[in-house]
Amino acid sequence: MTLELAAIIFLVLSLCVSAPLRLCVEFLAKMLFWIKCTLLFNAETQRRRDAENIQQQFLFLFFLLASCQNSEQSTSSSHTRCDPIDRLHTDHGLHLPAIKPATQQPYPWQTEGVGQLRAIQKDYFRCKGSNLHPPHIVLQDGKETGRFYDCAGAEKHSLPVVNGKEFIYPILLELLSEIQKQTGLPVIITSGHRCPAHNAYLDPRIKAQSSKHMIGAEVDFYVQDMQETPEKVIQIIFNFYNSQARYQGKKEYQTFSRFEKETDVVVAPWLNKEIFIKLHSKTEGRNFDNRHPYPYISIQVRFDREKNERVVFTPQQAQQFLRK
Ligand SMILES: [Zn+2]
Repeated sequence: MTLELAAIIFLVLSLCVSAPLRLCVEFLAKMLFWIKCTLLFNAETQRRRDAENIQQQFLFLFFLLASCQNSEQSTSSSHTRCDPIDRLHTDHGLHLPAIKPATQQPYPWQTEGVGQLRAIQKDYFRCKGSNLHPPHIVLQDGKETGRFYDCAGAEKHSLPVVNGKEFIYPILLELLSEIQKQTGLPVIITSGHRCPAHNAYLDPRIKAQSSKHMIGAEVDFYVQDMQETPEKVIQIIFNFYNSQARYQGKKEYQTFSRFEKETDVVVAPWLNKEIFIKLHSKTEGRNFDNRHPYPYISIQVRFDREKNERVVFTPQQAQQFLRK
């Protein structure tokens, strides 16, 4: 057996063995080729030309076969071996626990409400103006004497701003939340904050231009399903002042008197040191915010307990809101 024949057999054999052994077989084949080439180089001088030709042939064959040694891609599928995974009959697959949907925790303001009713927030007081409302045309003797356009609404301006924050007098939020708590019924705020433009649109009269709605100190509302019995709602307000610990022993808060001077309502309003309550009948106090057919209650804040001062309307304060 000649060296070149043995080398070729090794090369063919390398294609049939596994990867680690294949490298050794290929190395042996290449060594045999190299030895054969060396022998040919050392042959007699008269055969040198022939030997060079043979060497070139073997070198060509060597590089040709060596280029095929990229074993991973050239390996046929028959050389792929799959080892079975042995398991015992007691072995089990991975069992994931059943997914249980979590219960959403309520937000703080949801827990402060009554049942499904959320506690009254200052957001409920936002201006109800809209530039979709038609102009308010004032007629006198059939002639137009004034034309008022509504504001663009709460999307264009904020609530009154006090110390850099939107502000509604807290006693209003507290009283309306108390009414919801005692009745279990929703309080419907028909008119909370009014910007000056919306206030003029609702009531262009001069005396209405100092409304405390503009400074977040007044609210109009009724209680759903108690529209016809607003006196019971007012009684809840009286009870609030007699039950709160902070008012105990303070007659100026616990005792309500009647306001006997002339007003725009038939029923004489009630007042204590902190608030002023008006009851509007079905035909009184109607405006664009109060277009509903129900009696409604207005509460004005008269006294700021925190600052210990009277609450009075000022045009400067009415302009303290942010335009968006
Ligand atoms: Zn407005």
